[in-house]
Amino acid sequence: MNGKKQKSPYLRLLLVLPFLFTCTLPQNPDVSDITAAETPAEEAAADLSRETRGELVRGDNLIDMLLREGLEGELANALVLAVAPHVDMVRLQPGQRGFFTYGCDGVLVKFQFEESDGTLVEARLEGEDILVDIKHPLLTTRVVLVRGTVESSLYNAAVDCGMPLNVFMDMIQLFSFDVDFQRDIYRGDYFDAAYEVVYNGRGEVSGYGEVVMARLFTRGAAEEHHCYRYVKLDGTRDWYDDDGGTVRKELLKTPINGAYISSGFGTRVSPITGYSHKHKGVDFAAPQGTPILASGKGTITYIGWSDVYGWYIQLRHTNGYSTLYGHMSAFAKGMRLGSFVDQGQTIGYVGSTGMSTGPHCHYEVIYYGSKINPATMKFPPGESLKGDDLALYQLERKSLISSFF
Ligand SMILES: [Zn+2]
Repeated sequence: MNGKKQKSPYLRLLLVLPFLFTCTLPQNPDVSDITAAETPAEEAAADLSRETRGELVRGDNLIDMLLREGLEGELANALVLAVAPHVDMVRLQPGQRGFFTYGCDGVLVKFQFEESDGTLVEARLEGEDILVDIKHPLLTTRVVLVRGTVESSLYNAAVDCGMPLNVFMDMIQLFSFDVDFQRDIYRGDYFDAAYEVVYNGRGEVSGYGEVVMARLFTRGAAEEHHCYRYVKLDGTRDWYDDDGGTVRKELLKTPINGAYISSGFGTRVSPITGYSHKHKGVDFAAPQGTPILASGKGTITYIGWSDVYGWYIQLRHTNGYSTLYGHMSAFAKGMRLGSFVDQGQTIGYVGSTGMSTGPHCHYEVIYYGSKINPATMKFPPGESLKGDDLALYQLERKSLISSFF
């Protein structure tokens, strides 16, 4: 305890709320809006101006783009000389853009060259002079909400609603502690996902951020799984359920990124579906070579061959749990007896070795020596939110929900 007075969480909420949905991330204090006109005169001129754009192609020097634009050689040379000190000429990439602004009289008034980080090096022609300015990108983050409905697979649902693949993978990972993606996803199930989209000063998407909120409706929408991102007062962030419990559990229910899993309905047949006293494990069908993830932190207590499991790995975790992963096509690099692995680390790849009729991962959970059904295991939640964090989380969560639904 350093005795420093902590800011009230409610005060923080007031500060945070306006930024929840649109937050501007200036990268430099003297940032200026790239498109804003500065004076009424400029504004009037801007109305009549015309902008064209050029692009570097393979093997181009900067001057090639200017000549292709139709500028005369002398002007093109002068512009290149003016911007050169501010442009990383050695690392020019095909696709880098230049923007040419012409006045109403058709004369070039401005040339902007875009660096790979979005910075614009701007050269303004004023009489005989060329004035150079550096415009740092004004990035804006907005949160967008999409709904994906499962027609053929979760993956296709994400593609259909335009969700970027890496954000979708992140969302699936957050639910893989609670959801068996092979058995729990039915046709017609759906998810709502809110995630960050980063825009540059031209209003173009320049990247994607994190999942802010996600709800997954499974088993014919009979079950709901919710998670919300929350930044704790100590600055760390994680994803939590409705009660403020972390969504990360001791073991994953699905030891493969669920995005790769063939859905339980439809064409899939080969692996044995379901846990029974004869088949004491769960089979996850996925394409050959799909990474298999350690479902919890642990130590490799077996790595090798068995006629039944083929190439397989067994891990020992804390609290009496072990897990086993069978039919691998290969082990991940560096895996050997006694290796320590982290939760979610790739330990091997899906195959069809041993007694198997098609590529899948046979997954067993063993509790003090007895095989248990991973589909029904209920792990106590990890570190839950408490005190001020919990109160603030609930306020932020409610305001998120009410802003979207
Ligand atoms: Zn099996």
